[in-house]
Amino acid sequence: MIVDSLAKSDILQRKKRIKVPTLSLEFRPKSYLRPKTEQELCRQLMNLGERGRIIAGGTGIYEVVHRGLITDVETLIDISGLNLSYFSLGRDFLRIGATTTLSELARSSELAARDEFSAISDALNSIQPPQVKNVATIGGAICTALPFLDLPVALQCLNAEVRLAPSGVKKKIDEFMIGYFAIALEQGEFVSEIELPLARDGSRRSSAFQKFAATHDDWALINCGVSLSVDQKRRIAEPVIVLGGGVGEKPMRVKSTEDALSGTEATDVERIKTIFSNSIPKEIKTVSDFRASSDYRLQLAKVLAARATTNACKRSMSALGGK
Ligand SMILES: Cc1cc2nc3c(=O)[nH]c(=O)nc-3n(C[C@H](O)[C@H](O)[C@H](O)COP(=O)(O)OP(=O)(O)OC[C@H]3O[C@@H](n4cnc5c(N)ncnc54)[C@H](O)[C@@H]3O)c2cc1C
Repeated sequence: MIVDSLAKSDILQRKKRIKVPTLSLEFRPKSYLRPKTEQELCRQLMNLGERGRIIAGGTGIYEVVHRGLITDVETLIDISGLNLSYFSLGRDFLRIGATTTLSELARSSELAARDEFSAISDALNSIQPPQVKNVATIGGAICTALPFLDLPVALQCLNAEVRLAPSGVKKKIDEFMIGYFAIALEQGEFVSEIELPLARDGSRRSSAFQKFAATHDDWALINCGVSLSVDQKRRIAEPVIVLGGGVGEKPMRVKSTEDALSGTEATDVERIKTIFSNSIPKEIKTVSDFRASSDYRLQLAKVLAARATTNACKRSMSALGGK
């Protein structure tokens, strides 16, 4: 008993010394709306302005709350009742509804059937908690606008675009994500779907994604998405390379490196590694923080980009069927 009460008083003393971080106390939404139509949602967003905020899966919004960025918000607007969870395969595009969950993406036959979208499966495999994947949405992942999330990097290397409602305007991920927690949305607008261009027939386009984190379920120190084709002569064509994690306020495309890579023999792994080693340091500036130094991140960027490229090449060549 004595030991017990001593232990309790010790805990109380320590609690007094340790300042436990709490969520922003100013965040106290007073109401919760669940519109049934897109028109109703737009009206609510217009009327509420800064006082209203969309919630989809609700797994990313706490990151925003935690930093005290939405203290003015009085009303959360749940968009899960809008029937925006779908896949629609057209002649030129695969369209994915904004509230499609990460688990639904992982199970999608539309994505699995096409080699050019492999980077999405790789990215989903790198996101661990199934509880998160069951509710987190593709739209929410983009709109959270954090540079170290995985799905936006995979989508950007596939030249994905977001469609805004009600205007119907389309924006490339790179234009839409402006910086930390900042997206290009006007008042009254929301993301209704994500559009992925289909590869041209016979282009043998493939893609791959790589992530490195300090632990199994941590944020990426660096992540990388690569999409490319391998031509009949087994040379890399039209590569798109996107790096995220610790390269600044948003994921970035490395166009000079893409130019250097174009025309390289797809099986020449050593040449691919050399191109990344030489070109990446000239094009990106990695950040330093408590997780990793900028030098370490730069080294990771070179290695992961080479691995993703090699994987995408292998996938593309297997589509050549050994020819
Ligand atoms: C424990 C945990 C582990 C995680 N691990 C990873 C990981 O390893 N890799 C990774 O990439 N991510 C990871 N995540 C992040 C996760 O992917 C995102 O939190 C999630 O995708 C956000 O989607 P959501 O539907 O929950 O968004 P919400 O939380 O509902 O919304 C996030 C933001 O987007 C806005 N928003 C949402 N939908 C729309 C829309 N259609 N139009 C306009 N604005 C919108 C909201 O207003 C809010 O500002 C993790 C999250 C958690 C909680």
